[in-house]
Amino acid sequence: MGTFKALRIDKAEKGTTANFVDFNDSDLMDGDVTVKISHSTVNYKDGLAITGRSPVVRRFPMIPGIDFAGVVEASDNPAFKVGDAVVLTGWGVGETHLGGYAARARVKADWLVPLPTGLSPAHAMAIGTAGFTAMLSILALESHGLTPAAGPVVVTGAAGGVGSIAVALLAKAGWDVIAVTGRPAEADYLRSLGAKEILDRAELSGPGRPLGKERWAAGVDSVGSHTLANVLSQTRYGGAVAACGLAQGMDLPTSVAPFILRGVSLLGIDSVMCPKGRRITAWARLAHDLDAARLDSMSQTVKLEDVPGVAEAILDGKVRGRTIVTID
Ligand code: NDP
Repeated sequence: MGTFKALRIDKAEKGTTANFVDFNDSDLMDGDVTVKISHSTVNYKDGLAITGRSPVVRRFPMIPGIDFAGVVEASDNPAFKVGDAVVLTGWGVGETHLGGYAARARVKADWLVPLPTGLSPAHAMAIGTAGFTAMLSILALESHGLTPAAGPVVVTGAAGGVGSIAVALLAKAGWDVIAVTGRPAEADYLRSLGAKEILDRAELSGPGRPLGKERWAAGVDSVGSHTLANVLSQTRYGGAVAACGLAQGMDLPTSVAPFILRGVSLLGIDSVMCPKGRRITAWARLAHDLDAARLDSMSQTVKLEDVPGVAEAILDGKVRGRTIVTID
């Protein structure tokens, strides 16, 4: 028993506070596996949790950090033994269960995925929840029967975490990727990930028509609101759009026109409660399709003490790609 360094969110008279503390082992929550965390990341949801801009945290005190990678330190479950490398995303970790911005976590064995062979903990967190969600989106489009032969695919929020990894994965799979971004300065970055065309997000972010010109066969949308409505209205006959985010807004001001006149499908993507079998499939594919150099080109590495600053920046749309957090 001892203490370890952690970022802790507490309820305050007005809103919440986030401070670095020495956290007691004995205050860890129930679980059958204890993990020594080596890396975490900063996702959009972590930004919401740390700044308190949205009520993401449902239990106080909370250690935020919705994902982490590390090594099993103690296990009461035969599925894992001491020394196993593992990755965790979702399941309410960092929201209702103590999360990844700490040197240690105790969690349910069912929540852990063995780190795929060849993937380092740092690269697993370069992927993190955002990359895992991008992969789930692509698996959903593929299950719908869509292939690169159907036509181009559009990716919104392209310079962000989900968007960057979606662009890289889709380009690698042979799709012509149209990357939508509000940051023209990131056009070269997006091309380096494999984007064929860059679209200014202003073209899609305002109110649109129920049906527009058919421009793409598929989409991965991490933005929601008018952007998703416009992506749907410009999707080709029989196409599909995977909706996984709300960076512009939670609303969806659309009509049934794309669905009933073009047979377009809207595919919902949730990474938090995703069943274990699909998690293992997605992680295997991520480890295979994204090499180390590609992951390095879309990620920056920060220390735990830098996380509050990155949390503000990610909500302001100022973070490019992915942020890995090293935990001492
Ligand atoms: P990032 O902040 O890294 O990326 C979001 C991107 O969206 C930004 O980089 C920006 O891209 C774009 N964007 C931001 N604000 C706006 C706006 N007002 N209008 C249009 N575009 C905007 O976040 P993540 O990639 O980590 O997450 C993206 C979204 O996906 C979030 O809403 C997050 O909550 C959600 N998410 C959902 C998951 C699920 O399980 N369904 C799991 C993981 C994430 P650019 O600068 O290129 O325009």
